[in-house]
Order: sequence, then C-alpha cells, then structure tokens
Amino acid sequence: MKYALVTGGSRGLGRAICVKLASQGFKVLINYVSNEAKAKETLELTKQAGQEGELIKFDVANYEETTAAIEQWLNDNKGEYIDVLVNNAGIRKDNLLPLMPKEDWAAVTTITINGFYNVTRAVLPKMVRKKHGRIINMASVSGIIGLPGQTNYSASKGAIIAATKALSKEVGRKNITVNAIAPGFIRTDMTEGLPEEELVKTISLGRFGEAEEVADLVSFLASDSAAYITGECIAITGGLMG
Ligand code: NAP
Repeated sequence: MKYALVTGGSRGLGRAICVKLASQGFKVLINYVSNEAKAKETLELTKQAGQEGELIKFDVANYEETTAAIEQWLNDNKGEYIDVLVNNAGIRKDNLLPLMPKEDWAAVTTITINGFYNVTRAVLPKMVRKKHGRIINMASVSGIIGLPGQTNYSASKGAIIAATKALSKEVGRKNITVNAIAPGFIRTDMTEGLPEEELVKTISLGRFGEAEEVADLVSFLASDSAAYITGECIAITGGLMG
C-alpha cells in the first residue's frame, strides 16, 4: 500500500487532491485542523474514489502536535511510510502592510513556513531510509510576482518556493523529488468574496481555475511519469497577466 499525506485535506484544493490521489490508488491521510465535518466528507469522497483514506488531525503550525501525530501514525503502521507528502494547508489574512496587525503577519507566515518545516521534518527521515518519496508544496503565484495587500502571504509563499529548491538539492540522491505548485485564482473558500468579474479580466483563459485542475497537476507530480522533475515551481494560473 502506498500512503499520501495531504495537509489541509478537508476542503478546497486539499480535498480535490485527496480524492484524485485516492483514485490513483493511494491511501490518503487527510489532515485538517478544525473542520471535522468537512474532513469526514472528504473521507467519504476518497472511499467513493476507490481507496478509503483516514483522518489525521493536527495544527501544522504546532511542532509538538504535528510531530506527535505523525510519529503515532508511524508507530501504529509499522513497516509503512508516507511516500507522498502534499504540504497544502494555508491561510490568507490580507491587508496593506502599515495596517497589518502583527498577529496576521505571524499567523500566515507561521502556518505556511513553520508548517512546511514541522510536517516535512517528521515525514522525511522514513522517505530517506526507503530511498523514495515525493514532496509537493502548495505555493502561489503571489510568491512569484508579489501581490499588493499580501506581503505576509507573498513572503510566505516565496519562502516555500526557495525551500523547495533547497530541499530538492539535499534529497535528490535519495530518489526524493521536491516540487512546488503556484496556483493563480482557484475557486475555493479562500477566494470566496473576491471581485471575480474584475479579476477574470487579468486571466488569459477568462475564468478562475477549479480545484480538480490543480489536483491533476499534483497527481502527475506524484506519479512515476514525473520521476525526473525536481526543484521546480510550476504555475497553474490560466495565463495570469502580471
Ligand atoms: P481553503 O479552502 O481555505 O482550505 C484551507 C485548508 O487548510 C483547510 O483544509 C483547513 O483545514 C487547512 N488548514 C488551515 N490552517 C491549518 C493548520 N494550521 N493546520 C492544518 N490545516 C490547516 O484553501 P484553498 O484555497 O484550498 O488553499 C489550499 C492551499 O492552496 C493554500 O496553501 C493556499 O495558500 C494555496 N493557494 C490557493 C489558491 C486559491 O486560489 N484558492 C491560490 C494559490 C495558492 P480546516 O478545514 O480544518 O480549517
């Protein structure tokens, strides 16, 4: 059995990724932090897709909680390991920098950057021992071009892209690939309430993306077909005109 851990798997992109990986035959560990009802819906959808997953609750921003949950799973599943890690959990708290409370700076940077460290640090040693693994980090186009009102989010996603490149060089010889994905505007709770009519004018394809379209890219990067791709950040934006 091959296992995949998707952080923030209860809703949005994470849910679509869990379902797609389940249809590929992965047993998916569906992480969430608070929304148990939504996480259970994702669990049911993985079952319908062909491979029932399991729920694993932890706050990616909390080192002790994350480490304990992953160690517990590894103890309960002796001999197994997490072959695919999708670092997807994230939030946004937009504001112009002079108006941004320090709590909002800290929340976004901690969940994204420390979250990447906390989860990857716990999962990676077994991948290294097994000499196989795929790490896929959810960045954003905001981390490439920078978007006004999102200095906390752009800084965090830019850091994730840099971390992706650095880590790919550390673990390539262990047959582990590390890539980032940089979506533009994708229809989820996170983009709810944005002025869609205005924003689509800046997108070549003239529409927001769907979570399933990002999940297809994750599925490709997790597959054997992507074995020679590492250290990359792949944008999926419908042709966002910067
Ligand atoms: P979303 O619909 O708001 O879902 C966020 C997910 O992250 C939920 O499953 C949530 O769990 C989980 N989460 C939040 N904080 C967490 C924490 N501390 N620990 C564990 N899980 C946590 O967001 P989305 O649009 O799917 O975005 C997913 C990722 O894609 C994010 O990293 C986001 O920055 C990135 N992204 C999204 C877009 C877009 O247009 N949607 C564009 C570029 C990048 P609960 O349900 O338990 O709250």
